Amino acid sequence: MHQKPDGDAMGSTLALYHFMKGLGHETTVISPTNWADFLDWMPGIDTVVDFDKQKEKALLLINQATVIFCLDFNVLHRTKNMEQPLTEAVCTKVLIDHHQQPQEEAFTYGISDTSKSSTCEMVYDFIVNAGYSDNLTPEIAECLYTGVMTDTGSFRFPATSASVHRMVAVLKEKGLLHTKVHHHIYDNFLENRLRFIGYALVNRLEVLYEYNTACMYITRADLQRYNIKTGDTEGLVNYLLTIQGIKFGALVIDREGERKWSFRSKGDFDVNSFARKHFEGGGHVNAAGGRSSDSLEATYTKFKEVIKEYQNQLQ
Ligand code: 5GP
Ligand code: MN
Repeated sequence: MHQKPDGDAMGSTLALYHFMKGLGHETTVISPTNWADFLDWMPGIDTVVDFDKQKEKALLLINQATVIFCLDFNVLHRTKNMEQPLTEAVCTKVLIDHHQQPQEEAFTYGISDTSKSSTCEMVYDFIVNAGYSDNLTPEIAECLYTGVMTDTGSFRFPATSASVHRMVAVLKEKGLLHTKVHHHIYDNFLENRLRFIGYALVNRLEVLYEYNTACMYITRADLQRYNIKTGDTEGLVNYLLTIQGIKFGALVIDREGERKWSFRSKGDFDVNSFARKHFEGGGHVNAAGGRSSDSLEATYTKFKEVIKEYQNQLQ
């Protein structure tokens, strides 16, 4: 899965883990980095190896593997420090992913389908199309639901097809408790996170009406002041698109070692291309990310400069 895994990355890998284990395979999930606290309840999460923290163990697993499934990322550098060991691994590498423009040569086999709501939906299709519907357990259902719920913005983004709803109906029949999943993911933060959002909206939001764009930056000091951890900033970028008429939302956070961008759009403004062209990133048409080695001020200034090229598209 990609670094700093979200609900879809963790959900799809853990679902596949439970499925493979059920078939008698020896299986381990490796995350390139740590993950958000709001994923810590997931069935099997206590078995996930954190590459950053348990490097030796992870390298041994990678070297001994017969098959490595690469889920919810398109290019190997999305796995951060795992890029090199994954590149060097000689085993079969299988990609299952829904991001744009996958690095095809890096994988032995793969399914890349950008029309899919989530990698979890693709893992579900993989299990069902292989004839194993009966092997869908309540644990697998919870993992799959986590990813499809988070990647579709709770079933509101355009990729939420009829098949997504059919899949959820099947998961319900398999014993899924969907309210429990929602509670764990969205209603389980500390007070500081809510106050941080309030602070950011009041002090760090800028609306560029001439470009129908809203942008926001978060400094290191902001993160420290509110004791913000991995996962606490997830969803913040979505507030930008709640303003009437705003088609493009951009958030940059001064993370350790790099400035990390999140881009969101409504309609046909393609943030995947935007992120690729200007901020070493990518993703989907309406949701993408990027990065910069510049200072926070420099990368934010660059954003406000390059946005000028898109005035016609955004109006
Ligand atoms: P987020 O803003 O939530 O971190 O990411 C939005 C989407 O873009 C996710 O699907 C994520 O996997 C993808 N994404 C985020 N950062 C990058 C990046 O640096 N490169 C690429 N290729 N995709 C990214
Ligand atoms: Mn995903």
